[in-house]
Amino acid sequence: MRGKLVVGNWKMHGGLKQNDALLADLRAGWTAPVGRGLAVCVPFPYLWQAQAALSGSAIAWGVQNMSEHASGAFTGEVSAAMAAEFGCTYAIVGHSERRVLFKESDATVAAKASAAMQAGLTPIVCVGETLAEREAGSTGAVVTRQLEPVLASLGDRIIRAVLAYEPVWAIGTGRNASPEQAQEVHHLLRQRLGVENSAVPLLYGGSVKAPNARSLFQMPDIDGGLIGGASLKADEFLAIANA
Ligand code: PEP
Repeated sequence: MRGKLVVGNWKMHGGLKQNDALLADLRAGWTAPVGRGLAVCVPFPYLWQAQAALSGSAIAWGVQNMSEHASGAFTGEVSAAMAAEFGCTYAIVGHSERRVLFKESDATVAAKASAAMQAGLTPIVCVGETLAEREAGSTGAVVTRQLEPVLASLGDRIIRAVLAYEPVWAIGTGRNASPEQAQEVHHLLRQRLGVENSAVPLLYGGSVKAPNARSLFQMPDIDGGLIGGASLKADEFLAIANA
C-alpha cells in the first residue's frame, strides 16, 4: 500500500521564536499513525532549528527549493548536498511560485529533481496549471508537459520521488480544487507513471484546510497534501495530517 504523506511548505514565513513554538507543538502533537508521514519544508536559515527540534521524532524536514548545480560560482544558491548536511529528507522542486516568479523552466525543475536525488534527498516535484490553462481545457497537457522532463531525467529513480499536483489557481487563494477535479488529474498522473511506479505518493496542494482535507484525501489517487498557509498553525496542520 502507498504511504500517506502530509508536507508543510512554510514559504518565506517564520522567525526563531515562532518556529520554536510551532516545531515543539508539532513534535508533541504528532502521534505518527502507521503508514502516515509528516514533514515541514522550512526556509534555509531555519534548517538547523528544524533539525534540532525534530531529530529523533517521526517528523521529517526539508527545503522548498535548491540549486540544480552541485557546487560552484552560483552566488546566493544552496545545493542539495548542503541541505542534506542538515538532515533534510525532502526538497520541494518546481513549486509554481518558483516557476512563475523565478522563471524556472520544466528543464530546470527536472535538473533540480535529479540533483536532489543525487544528494540523497527525496524531491517533491510540483506540477499544476493556471486558471487560464484550466479554462482552455489544457490541464492534462500542461501537467504532462511538466512531468515528462522529470521522468526523462530521473528514469527508474522516479520510484523514489513524490509528486504534488498543485493547481496554480488554488494556491493561497482559498479556492481549492474539488475532490473530483483533483482526483481526475491525480489519476492522469498515476496512469502516466505506470504500474511499476504505483508506489509514488501523489500529493494535492492548494488551499487545503482542516475542513476540506478529509474529502480530498479520501479520493483513490490522492495520498496526502502539500500544505502552505495552514501549515503555519500547529493545530490546523495536525488536524489536516490526521485527516
Ligand atoms: C503551497 O504553497 O504549496 C500551497 C499549497 O499553499 P496553500 O496551502 O496556502 O494554498
